[in-house]
Amino acid sequence: MNIQQLIDDIAADVRPYLAQAAPADYIPALAGEDPQQFAMAVATLDGQLYATGHSDKRFSIQSISKAFMLARVLAVYGDALWQRVGKEPSGNPFNSLVQLEYEQGVPRNPFINAGALVVTDIALSQLGDSSSALRDFLREESAQPALDFDYVIAASESEHGHRNAALAHFMKSCGNLHNNVEQVLAHYFRACSLRMNVAELARAGLFLANHGASPVSGAQRLTRSQAKQVNAIMLTCGTYDAAGEFAYRVGLPCKSGVGGGILAVLPGKMSIAVWSPGLDARGNSLAGLEALDRFTTRSGESVF
Ligand code: GLN
Repeated sequence: MNIQQLIDDIAADVRPYLAQAAPADYIPALAGEDPQQFAMAVATLDGQLYATGHSDKRFSIQSISKAFMLARVLAVYGDALWQRVGKEPSGNPFNSLVQLEYEQGVPRNPFINAGALVVTDIALSQLGDSSSALRDFLREESAQPALDFDYVIAASESEHGHRNAALAHFMKSCGNLHNNVEQVLAHYFRACSLRMNVAELARAGLFLANHGASPVSGAQRLTRSQAKQVNAIMLTCGTYDAAGEFAYRVGLPCKSGVGGGILAVLPGKMSIAVWSPGLDARGNSLAGLEALDRFTTRSGESVF
C-alpha cells in the first residue's frame, strides 16, 4: 500500500466537504478557524510518518485529550476507575445532562464530558497537576517539547462552559467529584485546549496501536490488556452518538474533538490523525469522517 499516495488522494477527494460544515461556535475562540483547512497524518509502527494538507498547523485537540487522560488514569488507578464511571455508549450528545440524574451522577463512559470530568478529578487526586501531567505526557509521546496549552481557548471555554459546570456541580452533589469543582473544570478546560498538529497526534497515538508500549518514548504506558480496553472504549464511545456510524464506516477505534481533530488507531499497525475544523451535527469533523472512511475502505484495513 502506498500510504502517501492514498492520503494525498483522500485530501483531494474530501475537498467538497470542507464548505459544508462550520467550526464549533459554543466555544467562541474556536469559531474563527477557517473551515477550508484539512490535514491527515499516518504514523506506522515501523517508524514511518506520512502527512498531507495543513499537517504543520496545530489545533485545539479538545476531547481527544480524553483518550490520553483515560490512559494516564487507567495506568495509575487501574480498575478502581470503573467504580466512578461506566463503560457503555451513551447514545446522547457529549454534553448531555439528562442521563446523569437517572444514573445518580455516575457518567455512562469516560468520553462524554461528565465522564471526562470524573477522570480529571481522579487524575487530580492521583497525579496532582493533572493538565500539566497530560501536557508532559504528550510532549514525550510526540517528541515535541514545545507542545502547550492555548490559554485563550481555555479561558473562552471557561467563560462559556455553563453546561460543563452544571455537570460537575451535579456530580459533586452526588459525591462523585472529590476535588474542588472549579479546580476540576480548570484542569479539564486546560487539557482540552492543548494544541497539536496531526503529525504530533498520530505519533502520540502509537502506544495505543502497539499494545501499550510506546515506540516514541520507549515507555510501557499501559499493559496490553489496558491498551485493548482504551481502544474498545474509543470504538464504542469515542465519537459519542455517532460511534455506531464510525464503527460501520471507519471500523477503527476513534476519538474526536470539537476542534475538528480525530485520532484513529489500527492496533498492530498504525495511528492516524485527521483534522478539519468544520463539524457535523454530532460534533465530529465532517471531512475527517469522510477521510477516515475512505482510508479504511480503500486500504482494506480495519479492526474487523
Ligand atoms: N471542551 C469541549 C467541551 O467540554 C470538549 C468537547 C468535545 O471536544 N467533544 O465541550
